[in-house]
Amino acid sequence: MDLKTIVQNCAPARVLAVSKLQPEHKIRELYQEGQRLFGENYVQEALEKQDHLQDLSDIQWHLIGHLQKNKAKFVVGRFALIHSVDSTDLAEALSRHCGLKGVEQNILIQVNLAAEESKGGFDKDGLIKAWPQLTKLPHLHIWGLMTMPPLTEEGHEVRLYFRELRELRDRLRSDINVAHHPLTELSMGTSHDFKVAIEEGATIVRLGTILFGERPVKR
Ligand SMILES: *Cc1c(COP(=O)(O)O)cnc(C)c1O
Repeated sequence: MDLKTIVQNCAPARVLAVSKLQPEHKIRELYQEGQRLFGENYVQEALEKQDHLQDLSDIQWHLIGHLQKNKAKFVVGRFALIHSVDSTDLAEALSRHCGLKGVEQNILIQVNLAAEESKGGFDKDGLIKAWPQLTKLPHLHIWGLMTMPPLTEEGHEVRLYFRELRELRDRLRSDINVAHHPLTELSMGTSHDFKVAIEEGATIVRLGTILFGERPVKR
C-alpha cells in the first residue's frame, strides 16, 4: 500500500514510520512523499541518522526502543517524543539530565499489560503505584501511554489489550493533580494490528514493514 492511502486510513491517528535498521535513503524517500514522523529503536543508530539527515528540516524523530538508563544523557532534547519510558529509574534519569542540559522532554510511559517477562514496561498496578512519583518529575511532560501487546492469534485479544490501555489512560487522566501532563496520546498498533488499535483509540500507530517492506536483520 502507498503512504498516502495508509495515512488516510489511519486518520485521525498519526502515522509514525518505524525506520529502525532501514537505510537513510529509504527515510529520504518517505520524507519526499510527505512523511514527517520517524521512529527509531537504537540510540546510536538514531543519533547517526539524525546527524546525516539534518537537511530534512521538519522531520520529527521519536524513540520507541528500550532505553538503558546510562544512555539517558544522550537522548534528552534529541527526540520529539520518547515512547519507551519503562521504569521509574529511567524517568528519574531522564528528568535529571534534562535539568543538567536545560531542556524539557516529552515522553510516553510504556505499559506491559500482559506482564510478560520478556518485555519492558510497567504493569498496570505498578504504574498506578508509581504515578505520583512519575508525575512529579520536573522536566518531563507525560503525553500518554504506549504498549506493545503480546503476539496472539486472535485479533480479539489484541483488541482487549488496546482497550485496556485506553481505559488506564482515562483513569490516570482523571487525577486532577496531573493537569499539567497532557495524557492525550495512545501509541499502539503496528503493521499487523493498527486497524484494531485505531478503533480502540490509538492516536499514534507505529508502522514499519507495511511502509518499508521487510527489515534488514540486526547485526
Ligand atoms: C519494530 C517496531 C514496530 C514496527 O513493527 P512492524 O511490524 O514492522 O510494523 C513498532 N513498535 C515497536 C516498539 C517496534 O520495535
